Amino acid sequence: MTRTALYPGSFDPITNGHIDILGHALGLADRIVVAIGIHPGKKPMFTLDKRRAMIRMVAQERFGEDAGRIEVVAFDNLVVDAAREQGATILIRGLRDGTDLDYEMQMAGTNGAIAPDVQTVFLPASPDVRHIAATLVRQIAAMGGDVSHFVSASVALELGRKRAM
Ligand code: ADP
Repeated sequence: MTRTALYPGSFDPITNGHIDILGHALGLADRIVVAIGIHPGKKPMFTLDKRRAMIRMVAQERFGEDAGRIEVVAFDNLVVDAAREQGATILIRGLRDGTDLDYEMQMAGTNGAIAPDVQTVFLPASPDVRHIAATLVRQIAAMGGDVSHFVSASVALELGRKRAM
């Protein structure tokens, strides 16, 4: 039986923090579906296609052959419905600090009540990436700062291109 995990988020753009969680998730499931949430009214920095392309590129760079076990999809419905559509029984969420925990506990409780067949699994951020947040990365890049500690070189390049536009 193939064990599938859904890893939902905005990934705007994918950071070293997301990659860290993805790496741990690869050890827990056979197939990881990275699910990019589309929220009407929320304007992302990168288009869906660009976010998808960056995730694929970074997965290939970081995980090589194992990147074949990672899929990227988009969803605009409930995360548990997206999980069911993908045949996922595990919902992966990364935890950076107590603030994440408070929010994620509430989400896990709500999702668990709606879909008891989908198990939320919290993965702690590795110490070297726990300070990374996509929101800050976007702000730093927009002001011309160095983001090379927070994202892969290919993503840093895309952030630089955005600034130049
Ligand atoms: P959201 O908008 O739902 O927070 P994100 O794209 O910011 O989506 O994050 C998706 C998931 O990745 C969340 O579970 C978040 O906690 C996790 N995550 C983001 N950054 C990090 C990090 N630096 N370390 C560990 N997990 C992270």
